[in-house]
Amino acid sequence: MRPECLFSAFRSITTLPGIGPRLAKLIEKLAGPRVVDLYWHLPGGLIDRRYRPKIAAAEPGRVATITLTVNSHLPPHNKRQPYRVHCSDETGVLLLVFFHAQESYLNRILPTGERRVVSGRVELFHDTRQMTHPDHIVAIDQQDSLPTVEPVYPLTTGLTPKPLAKAIGAALADAPDLAEWQDRAWLDRQHWQGWRDALSTAHHPEQEADLSPQTAARQRLAFDELLANQLALALIRRRMRGLPGKAQRGDGRLRAKAIAALPYRLTDAQRQVLEEIAADMAAQARMLRLLQGDVGSGKTVVALLAMLTAVEAGAQAALMAPTEILARQHFERLSPLAAAAGARIACLTGRDKGKAKASLLAAIAAGEIDLLVGTHAVLQEDVSFRDLGLVVIDEQHRFGVHQRLMLSGKAERGADFLVMTATPIPRTLALTAYGDMEVSRITEKPPGRQPIDTRVMTLDRLAEVVGAVRRKIEAGGRVYWVCPLVQESEAVDLAAAEERCAALARVFGDRVGLVHGRMKAAEKDRAMAEFAGGSLAILVATTVIEVGVDVADATVMVVEHAERFGLAQLHQLRGRVGRGGQAGTCLLLYAPPLGETARGRLNIMRETDDGFRIAEEDLRLRGAGEVLGTRQSGMPAFRVADLAEHAALLAAARDDAKLILARDPELRSQRGEALRVLLYLFERDAAVRYLGAG
Ligand code: ADP
Ligand code: MG
Repeated sequence: MRPECLFSAFRSITTLPGIGPRLAKLIEKLAGPRVVDLYWHLPGGLIDRRYRPKIAAAEPGRVATITLTVNSHLPPHNKRQPYRVHCSDETGVLLLVFFHAQESYLNRILPTGERRVVSGRVELFHDTRQMTHPDHIVAIDQQDSLPTVEPVYPLTTGLTPKPLAKAIGAALADAPDLAEWQDRAWLDRQHWQGWRDALSTAHHPEQEADLSPQTAARQRLAFDELLANQLALALIRRRMRGLPGKAQRGDGRLRAKAIAALPYRLTDAQRQVLEEIAADMAAQARMLRLLQGDVGSGKTVVALLAMLTAVEAGAQAALMAPTEILARQHFERLSPLAAAAGARIACLTGRDKGKAKASLLAAIAAGEIDLLVGTHAVLQEDVSFRDLGLVVIDEQHRFGVHQRLMLSGKAERGADFLVMTATPIPRTLALTAYGDMEVSRITEKPPGRQPIDTRVMTLDRLAEVVGAVRRKIEAGGRVYWVCPLVQESEAVDLAAAEERCAALARVFGDRVGLVHGRMKAAEKDRAMAEFAGGSLAILVATTVIEVGVDVADATVMVVEHAERFGLAQLHQLRGRVGRGGQAGTCLLLYAPPLGETARGRLNIMRETDDGFRIAEEDLRLRGAGEVLGTRQSGMPAFRVADLAEHAALLAAARDDAKLILARDPELRSQRGEALRVLLYLFERDAAVRYLGAG
């Protein structure tokens, strides 16, 4: 249960004064639906109103606060002209300019003959100083109410600065005073304020430097967030480790048969990680291991051999893939090897229903199935294993799947965990998503891979692309053609993909197929199977994930609007071709003009195919928050912390989390209680469940 001191922070923004449904919708889109979301919406700029010149001295282009006398109103002669108000001080004239003005309103706030203080940007127009729509107009006796420095917040279309600033002001005004969760000595050494003060400071910059992620206030808030993240991961990990594990020691019998059935030799890198995994499984403690390996490095067979280890030890194993198509593909590729080893394998996805599903579930429960491959369905409530020894999670590039999973009931019965990821995550990022999981890395690719020829060109060179595609197809190649889906306009993009498919069909006839996210699973499968089998030569796809399948003869990857993809995604896509003996080609088509970041990304794609280098460059180009497309990927989305800026704090947070749990394992001390609040504040609620009642 969320502690009472946070009730006000987690109430809806509609409870703030002046926020009706329309505003609430806009603010929700921008920051989030609750008051706490506004805490983390920090200013990106500021307006300094401390510049108070006389009119003649006011520098054009600068925001100034000026005391003046209202001389006369000059209503427009026609609708297109602005309404002007003639004002002056002893040094000169300033015209206040209003478009679409309401005369009665202007007469009320700017009465002729009175003195006023106005603040806004000064412009020079035909040698006369003027100010269009001053931000503030107040009477002399109210000038204390003028802000001296105003924070400028990131906005969204339809939302204007004032109501947002007002909402944030109101949110901050009744932000709770929370007991300090940071170590006193550490705070003093860093010269950091308490949480509430730091929050207020971060929202009230006095000068440009105060907007830097490196200010004491922003560092303090970032550290809070990172500590919450690391503490939560440490708690989950401790829980997983603490539960009794199994010592699974296989005799190698099944593995030897599967290896004998492979049409290739394992690479040294594969052998190495297999040894690490086997040693970990043999230990009594539960295995929590991350298997990292670039696209095409051969993780699947490693997963299978790990699973067979569990079977040799008398248990069952499950492999979970992120999509239906990938689950089917894993199943099809593993089946012959499982058969060679004499292990019974089955596939379970959300599509399985009714009687067939019931009998499969019964077989799993009876231990008649050794290896179960599937989607999330594999670990649903209704699936019970006789003895589940190992869970392998293929995350592809969707992170965090494993976290939800490890929290599920299935995980509590002692199974070992192996998480496979294809994205080479920089160390700092890995730490936030996987905490202290052990890591095995496949550092080399199977031999015989041809380098991929990567070209970057504008979309208007489509005719050339079609020509190149024709030559590849005539040589027996297979072509992926990716038209990205952008969430906001899914229907439009889908239409674009269908149109592309139709256009290609006019050239290549019925050898062009389409897969997209809205198709039924069976339809997708059919298209994929036709592509893999060769009756389709071109497969147009709308999403990255659907392309995650392995088709050895695919030699060309065309990506339309490559500028919309992140580096990691482009790398993943490119990794789908050139897997057989043939050289691959990757054509990245973009719509000019290219922004700086997009240009940088495409250049890196041309320069290297080293996944780790690409990941580091991506981090440098975009900052960590975006690298993996936080939202979609399930990577922890940080609100304040920026991993490119606060990497050092992340390391400190990890150490601190360890120390905290060593000293106060159940968070029962005074500081421990405060830390529980911190976990709730950053919504790491799930981790709190792993603590004894407070
Ligand atoms: P990943 O899942 O790491 O992207 P896969 O497991 O899908 O890679 O393997 C990519 C391809 O390489 C598959 O076609 C697989 O059969 C093949 N492969 C795996 N290991 C080897 C090896 N040691 N030698 C040759 N080919 C291999
Ligand atoms: Mg794979």
